[in-house]
Amino acid sequence: MHNAIASPPSPVNEPVLDYAPGSPERARLRAEVARQRGETVEVLPVVDGRRVETGRTETIRPPHDLGHTLGTFHKARTEDVEAAIAGALDARHDWSRLDWTDRAAVFLKAADLLAGPFRDRMNAATMLGQSKNPYQAEIDAACEMIDFFRFNVAFYREMLEEQPTSSPGVWNRTEYRPLEGFVFAVSPFNFTSIAANLPTAPALLGNTVLWKPAPTQTYSAQVIVDLLEEAGMPPGVIQFLPGDGADVGDPVLASPDLAGLHFTGSTQTFNHLWHTIGSNLDTYKAYPRIVGETGGKDFIVAHESANPDAVATAIVRGAFEYQGQKCSAASRVYVQKPLWPAVREALEAQLADITVGPVEDFSNFVNAVIDQKSFDKITGYIDRAQKSDGVEVAFGGGSRSDDGFFVDPTVLVADDPAYETMEQEIFGPVASVHVSDRSFDDLLTLVDQTSPYALTGAVFSQDRQILARASERLADAAGNFYLNDKPTGAVVGQQPFGGARGSGTNDKAGSKLNLLRWASLRSIKETFVPATHFTYPFLDKDTSDVEIAERATNGSAAAPASGA
Ligand code: NAD
Repeated sequence: MHNAIASPPSPVNEPVLDYAPGSPERARLRAEVARQRGETVEVLPVVDGRRVETGRTETIRPPHDLGHTLGTFHKARTEDVEAAIAGALDARHDWSRLDWTDRAAVFLKAADLLAGPFRDRMNAATMLGQSKNPYQAEIDAACEMIDFFRFNVAFYREMLEEQPTSSPGVWNRTEYRPLEGFVFAVSPFNFTSIAANLPTAPALLGNTVLWKPAPTQTYSAQVIVDLLEEAGMPPGVIQFLPGDGADVGDPVLASPDLAGLHFTGSTQTFNHLWHTIGSNLDTYKAYPRIVGETGGKDFIVAHESANPDAVATAIVRGAFEYQGQKCSAASRVYVQKPLWPAVREALEAQLADITVGPVEDFSNFVNAVIDQKSFDKITGYIDRAQKSDGVEVAFGGGSRSDDGFFVDPTVLVADDPAYETMEQEIFGPVASVHVSDRSFDDLLTLVDQTSPYALTGAVFSQDRQILARASERLADAAGNFYLNDKPTGAVVGQQPFGGARGSGTNDKAGSKLNLLRWASLRSIKETFVPATHFTYPFLDKDTSDVEIAERATNGSAAAPASGA
């Protein structure tokens, strides 16, 4: 019995531990990395709480240490997907009817477990499986995931509180029902926190979910599964289906019970999924909700008044942290000509201090890119740049893939602002700079019109007029816009995240807006003393009505028009 209007604890962003030499967290994390390296795991699909051996396995290796084996994962088959759909539909009844506080408690408990006993395990798995350094793992796999869990609960509570007004004698209510059917969550490799948020945000609202992680994130995905189980998530609410895209996606999208898609990944994959849903539309019982956060070609624009050290730092952190494999990574930079020599000098000084290598050596700022396909794509861009007239490889350009997929932080300077690396998402440690002698207004037009994406962007200037003008002129160019800061590192609850144009549906992950997409509202009107006869006062006759009626009977007047 829940006779209480409960308020969850007020969320506060999880403090980021710094892992400095001599700190207890550094020693603990090192020990956990060593422990995980010392054993192999077998990651299995989980359907209705049962782990299923499918026999279709793939080896999991650290992208920075290809000679080492972390374990294997089993890929879900069509029959596993079908069982998961049936199980999710079964689980929906009990899960959706549970009091919201009981569901919320699962996620609040998960947050506390992750802040405590699961923190090192989640961070170490993210370091090893996705090649993140300790800091990048901490801000993602620990802090952001904890924030998603805690803030989503608080936003959910606020949402439930939003109720309509009522007139005398009537009580109006809005119910935030889960969608009818199941939700399909499809997550990318690059953020462990996003992998957790995509299935859990709809689940918090009472939906049941099929979750397909990226094959290259399976190692830390397993830790999310264990965390949620430990937090008390009932079997069947989140069905875990590791595997290849179409193997899982095709049977899921063919189900008449698909109620929603919660996607983060490339624009190309999202477009494919949306097309497929569109062509299956006649088979669905309801219109599926489609939420997708996709690619980016994120910009930094530096006005000549900007602080060159601040611009260089934003490029180094924004473009090269996590090897540029962030949807928000700075990847096209526009610098006004008078400022460039100072920015270049500062860049050179900072890049000289960066080392590239495995995550086990905490002094490496840059680690490996995720896989061979990604390595080939990134080095392809660099090779072509090296051979192109009008493009200078100003820094970096090196790579090696003998023991891991390492690409040096690379800065290209392109004369042509439409050169391919100024326009296309590379998703690697490559920043393309265009040094411009256009007017600042013309430069802003160029920034706005160069790429099909609109995810993040940053403007640097010491001049308030310039910041205000850029803000206004670039209003549609980025869903997350930064003044004098790098375009990465959005924090849940502080900078709700998402972009428009080719970057997605901009439903702002980790916000009330996103949660609303997983609710199908029911308006309820209750009348305390209902009418017992159809008449209204206006129907009572007065003297005019009597005269009109008499004239009508005598045939001397046209009959009055009547309304519906
Ligand atoms: P991806 O598109 O290759 O894969 C994303 C997911 O889709 C994976 O789980 C993949 O297996 C799955 N998938 C592929 N084909 C499928 C199909 N036919 N049916 C069902 N699922 C299918 O993306 P990625 O390489 O994992 O991630 C990088 C991309 O994600 C980049 O483009 C990046 O910009 C984007 N991203 C965007 C955001 C954001 O918030 N906008 C955040 C993180 C990543």
